[in-house]
Amino acid sequence: MNIPKLLAVNARKFPAGEALITADCRLSWSELHDQSLRLAAYLHEQYQISAGDRVALYMPNSYSWVLGYFAVINLGAIVVPVNARLTSAELEYILGDCDARLVIAQGEYAHRASALSTCLRLDQPAAQVAEMHARWLVADMDSEQPCTLLYTSGTTGKPKGVLFHHHALLTVATASAVEMDMRPYSRLLHMMPLTHSAPLNVFLLGGTYVGAAHVVLPEFHPTLLLDTVEKERTTHFFGAPVAFMMTAQQPDIAERDISSMQYWIYGGGPMSTEQLEILADRMQTDRLYCVYGLTEAGPSGSIMMPAEHASKAGSIGCRGALHTELRLVDEQGNEVIGEGTGQIQIRTEGMMLGYWNKPDATAECLHSDGWLDSGDLARRDAAGYYWVLGRAKELIISGGVNVYPREIEVALEAHPNVAEVAVFGVPHPQWGETVKAVVVVREPVADLHAELSAYLEPLLADYKRPRLYAEMDMLPRNANGKVMKHQLS
Ligand code: AMP
Ligand code: MG
Repeated sequence: MNIPKLLAVNARKFPAGEALITADCRLSWSELHDQSLRLAAYLHEQYQISAGDRVALYMPNSYSWVLGYFAVINLGAIVVPVNARLTSAELEYILGDCDARLVIAQGEYAHRASALSTCLRLDQPAAQVAEMHARWLVADMDSEQPCTLLYTSGTTGKPKGVLFHHHALLTVATASAVEMDMRPYSRLLHMMPLTHSAPLNVFLLGGTYVGAAHVVLPEFHPTLLLDTVEKERTTHFFGAPVAFMMTAQQPDIAERDISSMQYWIYGGGPMSTEQLEILADRMQTDRLYCVYGLTEAGPSGSIMMPAEHASKAGSIGCRGALHTELRLVDEQGNEVIGEGTGQIQIRTEGMMLGYWNKPDATAECLHSDGWLDSGDLARRDAAGYYWVLGRAKELIISGGVNVYPREIEVALEAHPNVAEVAVFGVPHPQWGETVKAVVVVREPVADLHAELSAYLEPLLADYKRPRLYAEMDMLPRNANGKVMKHQLS
């Protein structure tokens, strides 16, 4: 099996079934299939794109984006989705790193990309594609051939390209469809950037696997989300925790008809018990569904079903998704059995082939026995549930004692006046490191330090309590919404 065959199969099985709905199109599977073939033929004739070539997409989620994605893959070429929020300089780095032959873009993004590369401007996809020949040009490809290169968000350094072949992606797609109950009549709402592994591989490919409809919007906005759920009667939404919190805070949420929604899937970052309680209450739902994973693994990882939230909200679940195993290892790499703390490792058929042109970086995290170091520390409780404690690199060692930032963030997030918080270590002459918290408050307070210190006193051991506090209007986040702690000090 390969991705082009998915489209062909859908076109045959559900020719009139809705495939893609955006502000400027409503395409059936046969239309999407036909148009992706026309564009593929055009890319080959006009730009000589063929198997193995890298072609970047640089624009927000759109009709053109989805069409470009499938067209490039039809040719056996490698699609390189670049987050539209990245600057020209960041785009330039990625285009150089993967030696892209072409960028497909729209509007102002095409303008920026043209300065750096050959660029196909796809502003009017319907009209443009109608002019292209209806020529069937799908490369022969086997499932081990690379097809997607995803640049990781780079919360720690320069982004690295993560390379996947069809087999890995179809594994992720199958697992997603099964685990999240996707069906031909499901309607998936896309508002997160398709340039990230979860929206793309879990959601776009998972839904495509079963012939579900994709409702694709250019960006996240809470009122737009609620309007679209009501209008399109969508059934599945995937979003970062921050998107959920913004939605739950909408003043008119109780009057909105969100009854069509079967799964509200959150992941990509931690969500606390308190936040989940607010969501469940404000959104009147017991359909919250947790995913944990990382790009390198497809992003396969763990899942937690709605029913498990009653007793384990705040955890990432107790099992790997379909085709995926999870375990904990200690600092020596030995497996931790039973209750305990360690680094999460993942083994899955959805695994990346490796980092683009970085064999050393690949060997550092992906072991020959197939286990991948996630870089995340977690505690496993007696029932087998994993609780993320933070990135291994962000572990704070204060006076020789391990302090897990996430534990402190969770405690502070439960304070009614704390909207957002990031905890990290700062150098300290005596203790090595000391704990600092940067807080976004809901209402101004006279003495933040005193108030939060007093609040934490009965909750956390003395050595865990932040010695330093600072306030910010908002936390610095990367293009995927992850907090960039290395920018805080
Ligand atoms: P990325 O490779 O950009 O998808 O980022 C993966 C990282 O996001 C993981 O290594 C975790 O640190 C974090 N992450 C993803 N999902 C969750 C989750 N459900 N809870 C906590 N952290 C998460
Ligand atoms: Mg990562």
